[in-house]
Amino acid sequence: MRERAEHGPEWRSRPPGYRERVTSSPPLVDSFGRVVRDLRISVTDRCSFRCTYCMPAEGLQWLPRDQLLSFEEITRVARLMVERFGLESVRLTGGEPTVRADLPVLVEMLAGLGVDLAMTTNGATLGLLADKLRRAGLGRINISCDSLRPERFAEMTRRDALGRVLDGIDAAVDAGFDPVKVNAVIIRGVNDDEVVDIAAFGRDKGVQPRFIEFMPLDADGGWTKDQVVPAQEIVDAIDAVFPLEPAWRGPEPAARWRYRDGAGEIGVIASVTQPFCASCDRVRLTAEGQFRSCLFAVREADLRTVLRSGGSDDDLAAAIVDEVGRKWAGHSIGKVSFVRPARSMSQIGG
Ligand code: SAM
Ligand code: SF4
Repeated sequence: MRERAEHGPEWRSRPPGYRERVTSSPPLVDSFGRVVRDLRISVTDRCSFRCTYCMPAEGLQWLPRDQLLSFEEITRVARLMVERFGLESVRLTGGEPTVRADLPVLVEMLAGLGVDLAMTTNGATLGLLADKLRRAGLGRINISCDSLRPERFAEMTRRDALGRVLDGIDAAVDAGFDPVKVNAVIIRGVNDDEVVDIAAFGRDKGVQPRFIEFMPLDADGGWTKDQVVPAQEIVDAIDAVFPLEPAWRGPEPAARWRYRDGAGEIGVIASVTQPFCASCDRVRLTAEGQFRSCLFAVREADLRTVLRSGGSDDDLAAAIVDEVGRKWAGHSIGKVSFVRPARSMSQIGG
């Protein structure tokens, strides 16, 4: 009998061909010994969708444009982190990153830093942009799609846009992104009956689904733990139809599983039921230049003020080191000690 799919220590071994990035820069290490390697940059708080688990129907109070970091300011922070601290990867996010005008220009500027450059997008405009972003130097892409049923998709995103997102996924594949990952937030009683359909979609299209547990970062504070579908339940549902085995896992939050028949892989992001805080290597920069050491942080370092008051690179580096030094061991979702961040996912940058 086939064993039940479970986590295994072999995930932490290196895959064939894995190469550590060689850098002479001293690493940026927090007080728990975790090295910062990954920066998530939100380029805007605005969005073309209104996903129920992320934003209210009427949207949020958008930041005035002059409060957004310019491309030059974003690149200065990223460059500093690459040169001083050996930062290895950058992910652009938002809000919806593609609503920021001239995004390929920023991609080209960041690609020049030689980091692994990725983006998370709702995919609605990739039909127009995928090729331009690829040619500008974007290396990897995640496209969010929580349902393959048009009416449900429209309910979840408050936009009748499934066709455009599916076209966006095709455009990303055609542009040469490989793999294309498809993010799906799974919510009990909303779309948990589509887990296997989304897996089948991934197998057919040659894209990799990333199933995400619902986190308490919704804008209206309506999150409850019973809405969370545990990652293990998702893996078991797929494994029953398309048998899975553990795949190599790096420092990224997704636990990866591959199909035993070789038809690709999936990832599950168990932020709530199996927090990966102990191996977290990421920090965040919000659209208005606030540096956060954790998605759930309740404090931030104001880099925009440093940038706009003539601060030197040493001043910026000092603010970053100080904030990283305050990074906590981990969030405590589901416990009485948990404090919800004042911002929603779209305002932080997921
Ligand atoms: N607009 C882009 C998108 O939707 O892909 C990028 C920003 S969005 C905030 C980044 C990711 O966060 C998306 O995959 C989205 O589904 C996920 N997300 C948003 N709110 C969430 C929540 N409360 N729990 C879990 N994931 C969430
Ligand atoms: Fe917009 Fe992404 Fe939030 Fe949906 S999840 S409302 S697409 S920022």
